[in-house]
Amino acid sequence: MAFAKWISSFLLVLCLFEPTFILSDLSITSKFLEEANKPEVFNWMVGIRRKLHEYPELLYEEFKTSQLVRQELDDLNIPYNCSVAGTGVIGYVGTMKEPFVALRADMDGLPIHELVEWEHRSKIDGKMHACGHDAHTAVLLGASKILKAHEKELQGTVVLVFQPAEEGGAGARKVLDTGLLDKVKAIFGLHVAPGVPVGVVGSRAGDFMAGSGTFEAEIEGQGGHAAQPHLAIDPVVAASTVILSLQHLISREADPEDLQVVTVTKLEGSNAFNVIPDTVKIGGTFRAFSTIKKLKERIEEVIVKQAAVSKCNATVNFFDKEKPLYPAVYNNKNLYAHYNSVAAQMLGPLRVVEAPQVTVSEDFAFYQEELPGLFFFLGIMNDTHGQEPVHSPYFEIAEDAFPYGAALHASLATTYLSDVLGEVKNLRDEL
Ligand SMILES: [Zn+2]
Ligand SMILES: [Zn+2]
Repeated sequence: MAFAKWISSFLLVLCLFEPTFILSDLSITSKFLEEANKPEVFNWMVGIRRKLHEYPELLYEEFKTSQLVRQELDDLNIPYNCSVAGTGVIGYVGTMKEPFVALRADMDGLPIHELVEWEHRSKIDGKMHACGHDAHTAVLLGASKILKAHEKELQGTVVLVFQPAEEGGAGARKVLDTGLLDKVKAIFGLHVAPGVPVGVVGSRAGDFMAGSGTFEAEIEGQGGHAAQPHLAIDPVVAASTVILSLQHLISREADPEDLQVVTVTKLEGSNAFNVIPDTVKIGGTFRAFSTIKKLKERIEEVIVKQAAVSKCNATVNFFDKEKPLYPAVYNNKNLYAHYNSVAAQMLGPLRVVEAPQVTVSEDFAFYQEELPGLFFFLGIMNDTHGQEPVHSPYFEIAEDAFPYGAALHASLATTYLSDVLGEVKNLRDEL
């Protein structure tokens, strides 16, 4: 998730009901950053992250993680709903009345065996927080602490979403299905970004992170002796032409300026050198932005029809229940302007960069299908940490990034309630 192009983008377009959001209280961002850097917040966040890192839990099994989040919210005297979408927790800070704005963190780890040698390495063999969701949870708790300290100043309610199962489980979709976010006006989320220095953030308006899907196809022919292929219907050759035809979806059908990927990662046939198998299985992943559903349709069509050319039958499974299609992360343009304004105020304009579109996916996109949302990357690299990519067994985080994440979360929500919604209200009042 390294950013290739570092281009500052501060073009704000002013029009009625799509106002440019100028922070009314410029001191909030620096005040929150100062508070996030205080030992009682910073060391506390680091401690939570390290505890979570030692005991990573996979999707929908975040029981201890959820318990720790609830314990910390209890200590902060923040009310919450628990067992949201299984292990999720949703806390509330502010007036407990409308308007509502949400901040989101994901909590699940990955089935990866950690290979980093350090004091707080994973104590669970084969499981690791290799995507930084331990940091996301700690940082949102940090924001919760700051917001609680300023609860009387909030002009509405901040909804703190600790969600399960981002890694392939579409936890965000299940959180939405509870209806607990129905009244939320906007949602903000962040992801740690290796390769990006601490104190730098990146995002972009509109299409940001690709949607993704998973497929597996069974291509059925008729097995036989490898020496007599004319007496068999060979699914291996059929699978080969299917795989090549799938590549044409990108090279011949996709707009070269529209990022799309189809990758076949799995190919299973006979175990013998002299047997043509009855069936061959292939599988893989696909990524796209607005064309994701169309791409899915074409993958099925190409597999079935190309297999038929070789006299084989094919069935395609998209794992709609177990691994639902993830939509693309699409950042609302007004929220992007708001985020740019807040982040530039806190970090300085040169440390707020326009990120390129990326083909990795995020289930934050489910929230953005239902309400305006803004997702951004938080730099986590210093001289010694944060260079390895996410999902690597060597993934590490420079924890001095946490105050920036917590302060940005808290600032985005606070100023959204006071300035963004206030601005729209004022415009309406003037009409
Ligand atoms: Zn991940
Ligand atoms: Zn992640």
